[in-house]
Amino acid sequence: METRAEQFVDRRIFRIVSDVAAERGVRAFVIGGYVRDCFLGTPSKDIDIVVEGSGIDFARAVGEVTKSKVQYFKNFGTAMLRFQGNEIEFVGARKESYRRESRKPIVENGSLRDDQLRRDFTINAMAFSLQAEDFGALVDPFGGIRDLAAGIIRTPLDPDTTYSDDTLRMLRAIRFCTRLSTPEHPFHIVPESLDSMRRLNGRLSILSTERITDELCKMLRTDQPSMAFRLLDETGLLPRILPELSALKGVETIEGMGHKENFSHTLAVLDNVVAAQRARDEVAPPGPDRPDSLWLRWAALLHDIGKPATKRFVPGQGWTFHGHDIVGSRMVPRIFTALKLPLDEKMKYVRKLVWLHLRPIALVDEEVTDSAVRRLLFDAGDDIDDLMLLAGADITSKNPAKVARIKANFELVKRKLVEVEEKDAIRNFKNPITGDYVMELYGIPPCSEIGILKEYVKEAILDGRIGNNFEEADALMREKAAEMGLKPCK
Ligand code: ATP
Ligand code: MG
Repeated sequence: METRAEQFVDRRIFRIVSDVAAERGVRAFVIGGYVRDCFLGTPSKDIDIVVEGSGIDFARAVGEVTKSKVQYFKNFGTAMLRFQGNEIEFVGARKESYRRESRKPIVENGSLRDDQLRRDFTINAMAFSLQAEDFGALVDPFGGIRDLAAGIIRTPLDPDTTYSDDTLRMLRAIRFCTRLSTPEHPFHIVPESLDSMRRLNGRLSILSTERITDELCKMLRTDQPSMAFRLLDETGLLPRILPELSALKGVETIEGMGHKENFSHTLAVLDNVVAAQRARDEVAPPGPDRPDSLWLRWAALLHDIGKPATKRFVPGQGWTFHGHDIVGSRMVPRIFTALKLPLDEKMKYVRKLVWLHLRPIALVDEEVTDSAVRRLLFDAGDDIDDLMLLAGADITSKNPAKVARIKANFELVKRKLVEVEEKDAIRNFKNPITGDYVMELYGIPPCSEIGILKEYVKEAILDGRIGNNFEEADALMREKAAEMGLKPCK
């Protein structure tokens, strides 16, 4: 099918590329994601240009016209420049063949068609011609435009070939399917492709962890990440990537009593978190001090990860998962290490949210005392808003009356949090009594008594026995110190 789509190539950069191509006597095309996204109505800022010839030399010539700095990636035979807000990448058309044991292809120069054949999906293999004679013509040898309209992810070649040539494409299929799906226009991976993934999922082992994890993060950044994790599960990829998540699957029944199916529940919580984040972003756009939304999504994905290890059946009572919050939070560093995710503040944030995820809901069932709220604020610190978002997203039940009741009480907890924080400012708690102050007052060196006194004051503030201020803290500390036999030196 040949369709003219001049409106999509009505940019200066495309005219410049066209002129440079004519001058050099080579053919150049826009290809891949940019073309796909034009038809989806969301043209991207990243533009990939493929030339039948050297991408590097071509980029240099374009850079001279646009007066832009060109970055060269000689190992990949690509070059990139920025122009009028776009990032433009140049690559020579290639023909690739693969060896079984490696992701690294043997690359030769090729034609546009060779290049399109090595692309991952029909919808990613479409190109616009930039030749003067058919400027803007769609070159779509595999029916990408048809698949895009039908919401289909399909490989240009036999899927076994496409996926064994490059295993990462299995994950890309799932990512694109998830990312492009909307409620009005869902996408599907064709059954032959899914079958091929089931057969070839063992080849995931030749991929680097970084590449896999990068894809997982991209899946998590979509609007409905549950779809990606369902597909990973259906294709047998999930146990090879995140076995801890696969272990949440299934329901056991004893004495006629089953428990929640924790895999579906987790995915529902994940989607709830994404929806709640979007709602929050609309009211309060994210600023530099709000953690990247990705990490709250990781926390949602892992929040119940401790359930399989803590599952017990108590006769006459039913299933319990006591301590799954603590066990789960202890699993987070291991999972982050295995996936080569950062082990810095981001990991600590996820670990903390997994640890605390039950606390706000536990308050719902109890009488909401100021002291319990202060302790929650103290433990969550600045992450209290994200914790509340996660805990709210965690309210899933088949019983609508139950959900409504919990949600109403949950609102109460939220109001109480605001009230207590206004009164006591616990969120960024700093002990009014410092170690230096105690040492100077009593003329003592660093010793365990200082810790005891500080802890005593902190507990009194959290319990509400004294206010969060220096005067009351100092008076109480002096009382306790006297009991311990300490005397001020002045
Ligand atoms: P986006 O960047 O918006 O995620 P994209 O389609 O531009 O989507 P990229 O990863 O930037 O995706 O790749 C650009 C193009 O290169 C793709 O459209 C596809 O044609 C091709 N491509 C990228 N990775 C692969 C791969 N592993 N196998 C085959 N083709 C690929
Ligand atoms: Mg891209």
